[in-house]
Amino acid sequence: MAILNEIRSWTGKRAYCFRGRDILTDKGGDAADAEAVASLAFCFKVVCEDTVTGCIGALVPQDTVAPTGYTFTPIPAYFFSHDEQENTRAARMKGYAGWLDSTRFCPACGHPLRLHAVENALECPECGRLHFPRVEPCIITLISRGDEILLLRNVRDTKGIYACLAGFVEVGETLEQALRREVREETGLEVQNIRYAGSQGWPFPDQLMLAFYADYKSGEIVIQESEIADARWFRREALPPMPAPGSIAWRLINGRF
Ligand SMILES: [Zn+2]
Repeated sequence: MAILNEIRSWTGKRAYCFRGRDILTDKGGDAADAEAVASLAFCFKVVCEDTVTGCIGALVPQDTVAPTGYTFTPIPAYFFSHDEQENTRAARMKGYAGWLDSTRFCPACGHPLRLHAVENALECPECGRLHFPRVEPCIITLISRGDEILLLRNVRDTKGIYACLAGFVEVGETLEQALRREVREETGLEVQNIRYAGSQGWPFPDQLMLAFYADYKSGEIVIQESEIADARWFRREALPPMPAPGSIAWRLINGRF
């Protein structure tokens, strides 16, 4: 049993309170203490306790005001300023709380779900189906061509940031097939020599980023205009504005695995 939807005790617990894409933090930028999170209990949409890590996760509505002395910080900024162990704890609670919030009824029969007594799952008392937390695999890749690397600017980007190519794995695909397909769709290029680099949980809402290096094989860049605003080869001594340290794109570009 990993997740309880009731809190046995707040004392000495790490607690993570999420508001949309924000996390409640103290003046030092760390996750708020359990007492501060508990003070918002009157407006919790969801609260759960993880019996594996001993952490508490809570979701509050978008109009929630932080307690005095605390603030809501964008989760990516939190991730970029904490280590992998802490980020994993926070991501896990964001994932579980979001899952409980968005999975209230059985997708097969519409009956309200309840937490399973043993499995880390929701069960349907009507039809017996189990529903597990979703993890959506997403590939991200840095493509090299000699001394150059390929970076892309997303159409949703407003800050001039160039990042690595990324996309969701489709049903039945291998990771390598997904990578080749995404590269082809977004840039028109073919790649070879795909090497696994590392991974990162990214709970927005439930992605698992799987990072790879790949080498250019053939083709000229033809961008997918619905997704990509610009894609170019950059020399390492003349790189554009890039994702912040802590992101897996930054780790790929800087070889930090
Ligand atoms: Zn059902």
